[in-house]
Amino acid sequence: MQRFALLSAVILAALGALATGAAQAGGLERLYILNCGEGVAGDISRWSPGVNVGQSMPFVDNCYLLKHAQGWLLWDTGVPDAIAAMPEGQKPADPKATHWYRPKTLASQLEALGVKPADIQFVAVSHTHGDHIGNVELFPQAMLLVQKAEYDWPGPNNAPRFKPEHPVTKLDGDKDVFGDGSVTILATPGHTPGHQSLLVKLPKTGALVLSGDAVHFQANWDHRRVGRVYHRCG
Ligand SMILES: [Zn+2]
Repeated sequence: MQRFALLSAVILAALGALATGAAQAGGLERLYILNCGEGVAGDISRWSPGVNVGQSMPFVDNCYLLKHAQGWLLWDTGVPDAIAAMPEGQKPADPKATHWYRPKTLASQLEALGVKPADIQFVAVSHTHGDHIGNVELFPQAMLLVQKAEYDWPGPNNAPRFKPEHPVTKLDGDKDVFGDGSVTILATPGHTPGHQSLLVKLPKTGALVLSGDAVHFQANWDHRRVGRVYHRCG
């Protein structure tokens, strides 16, 4: 089966021109790509209304762990680790949505890297759909970095999107996380009211944007297809 360019799972190298300057940027040391879920979307026209109606597609859902001299930052947390224990995965109520599997837990991948949940200083999520915030509470002590517009967006039945007691920094726009220009949150609203992306400047690779669900498919980017604000993602 063909693998598709799901932009929530791939790094969009949109800022190559900045790559030269990246080598001088601060204390960012390394980026790890973690498997945070795999699935099958029932109908991808959810993300391109009127186009590809009824077409199914395999999906991947990544998390990204950044090692910076000042601490660890986790970008997105994927679908819940509990799905790993479900032999049939998690079936969506709506067959057009995504049927998720969890080949590996996030916790086991961190353990393999020798990183304890308590070591994670910052957890930043691109947005609050279930396939991105499924494991936020593995890190109850970590500072959440989330746009205020997303934090305040009422969830289903007006439920809060995060536990009120979870430490949080509510952002209003872009944020240079470590103050050295190496890791910058970019406000990219649209898919949800407070969607955000992450600009990382790696010592060797250069500048990359982790684009979350700002664009789902290469074809949507190429043809400038824009979705709507989604209350549910997968
Ligand atoms: Zn989403």
